[in-house]
Amino acid sequence: MNELIGRVFSFGKQVFPNQSDLYGKLAAHGQSPKALMISCADSRVVPEQIMQAQPGDLFVCRNAGNIIPPYATQNGGVTSTVEYAVMALGIRDIIVCGHSDCGAMKAVANPAGLDAMPNVAAWLKHSAAAAKVVNDGYPELDGVERVRAVILENVVAQLANLRTHPSVAAGIARGEISLHGWFFDIGHGQILALDGGTNRFVALKDDGELPVALKASPRLAAGLEFAQAAE
Ligand code: ZN
Repeated sequence: MNELIGRVFSFGKQVFPNQSDLYGKLAAHGQSPKALMISCADSRVVPEQIMQAQPGDLFVCRNAGNIIPPYATQNGGVTSTVEYAVMALGIRDIIVCGHSDCGAMKAVANPAGLDAMPNVAAWLKHSAAAAKVVNDGYPELDGVERVRAVILENVVAQLANLRTHPSVAAGIARGEISLHGWFFDIGHGQILALDGGTNRFVALKDDGELPVALKASPRLAAGLEFAQAAE
């Protein structure tokens, strides 16, 4: 048997017995996760480990390139997961997490190798804004530095896409939802977070305030306080 597949038996024999109380509560009372993380499918990025999350803590959506298609362009898994997280689970914090050495973003930076993968190529069009920002904005970059810039700009682009989703837009307007843009450096185990105040990615430090891409704050554009969601 594949050694990895065989490890499922150790979950049943060793891991589950130590956590059976937690699983029992979750089975009886359902889930109420505290955040939604949209991350890459890369095997080196493990949201639950990065967040030190227990079962029930984190609602997770993973795909190649941590992409969120803009609303109405695609009725798919990401759109449905975002809508369910906000509307059914009442999630108030959404994290978009990119990472170093991302294969999807390497392909966005250098699309030549995508001819044999038409679905990947079509999917990565949702990151076209990141490629354009880097090509036009940082023309001097090449190699690893250019890919890193695409990865960071892709987090920014996907946060913008996320805001096109009506459930998210309404939650933001009510001041209920915070957006977080993160970058996970695999080699250093470090998280950088987009600070919406300075428009820079900065290292997370446990003695400082958490940098937030978009802080929850009620919109008053119409001169009125938004109605709170019905409890
Ligand atoms: Zn990736």
